[in-house]
Amino acid sequence: MPGAGRRRALNERPLFFDLTPEDLTQRMLTWGEPAYRGRQLWRGVYRQLAETPELITNLPHNLQRRFSEAFSFYSMEVKKTVRSADNNTQKVVLGLTDSHSIESVFMRYERRRTACISTQVGCALGCVFCATGRMGLVRDLTAGEIVEQVMYFTRRLAQDGERLTNIVIMGMGEPFLNYQATMQAIDTLNDPDGFNFGARRFTISTIGITPKIECFTQERRQINLAVSLHAATNELRQQMLPINRRYPLESLIPACRNYVEQTGRRITFEWALIRQVNDGLDQAEALVNLIQGLNCHVNLIPLNPTDGYPGEATSQQQVDNFYHYLNTRKIQCTIRVRRGININAGCGQLATE
Ligand code: SAH
Ligand code: SF4
Repeated sequence: MPGAGRRRALNERPLFFDLTPEDLTQRMLTWGEPAYRGRQLWRGVYRQLAETPELITNLPHNLQRRFSEAFSFYSMEVKKTVRSADNNTQKVVLGLTDSHSIESVFMRYERRRTACISTQVGCALGCVFCATGRMGLVRDLTAGEIVEQVMYFTRRLAQDGERLTNIVIMGMGEPFLNYQATMQAIDTLNDPDGFNFGARRFTISTIGITPKIECFTQERRQINLAVSLHAATNELRQQMLPINRRYPLESLIPACRNYVEQTGRRITFEWALIRQVNDGLDQAEALVNLIQGLNCHVNLIPLNPTDGYPGEATSQQQVDNFYHYLNTRKIQCTIRVRRGININAGCGQLATE
């Protein structure tokens, strides 16, 4: 992976968060240390949230030092934190070791404490209404860089005696085009012997990379899957999302149906409502036909404004009409509250220079 190579050139020590438990076991073997020492480090970081090995008191001093010299325990620097007026949404700009940066978002809503994390710097897919897409792809994040975003929010919350309840992989980038690193990050965070974050409390959002939806189905994970649909006809969808030419609805929808059949899980469809683009009842009708009989949930979210896209959010009246149309045809749906728009932390608004 080019990203990892670049990072290592600047920072010789591998990032701890990039390691798997097997990597650590292997390392203990080469060091001639018992395997449980590696697990003590793993638990110290992921359970006790120790920021350095020196803080893991059940490790002997010499090993604490050896771990510190062998691995790096952070790779990101907070460059900026922006808070919404009510402080319930916070966006952080995190600088990476190669001088690129990413954005991650924390949201507090009733009992929920949600981290929205990124998987790539930028995104190659260029969806017309998305600020990340306008950046193009700079590089993939490593598994460790994905994990570290979660650790950052977790540690900050722990200072107030709070915990994250949900992780949504909906920040910058297309997770299914950085599949392996994203799955490794989920495995690390999900590990019962470590961070132990329940699979059902993750949601991964994809623009609809059909072959990867198929892989994901085969893996039988308990993670929630969301697909960014936004339009129910190819003609409209490909104007908004160029990737639709590669994976049109005839390929995407059967993959979604297969996912639901194979896993017995419900799928979520995301629909950003854009005034006079995809908010008409003709699209609502096409949508009903498209997802007929599929165990799914539709999230309607009025478009968040971004520079360089002239479209506007649908009026409240038309949002209600669209919702009502789906609702009376027995499609489960919700109108999502827009969050963090004033601080450009809403869906599709994340971008860095
Ligand atoms: N690449 C993935 C995940 C990141 S985008 C994906 O596209 O699914 C997270 C969500 O924000 C997606 O549903 C995306 O389509 C949506 N989105 C992008 N730009 C938006 C905007 N300006 N307003 C509202 N939602 C937007
Ligand atoms: Fe990429 Fe998702 Fe933005 Fe499309 S909406 S450009 S897939 S991040």
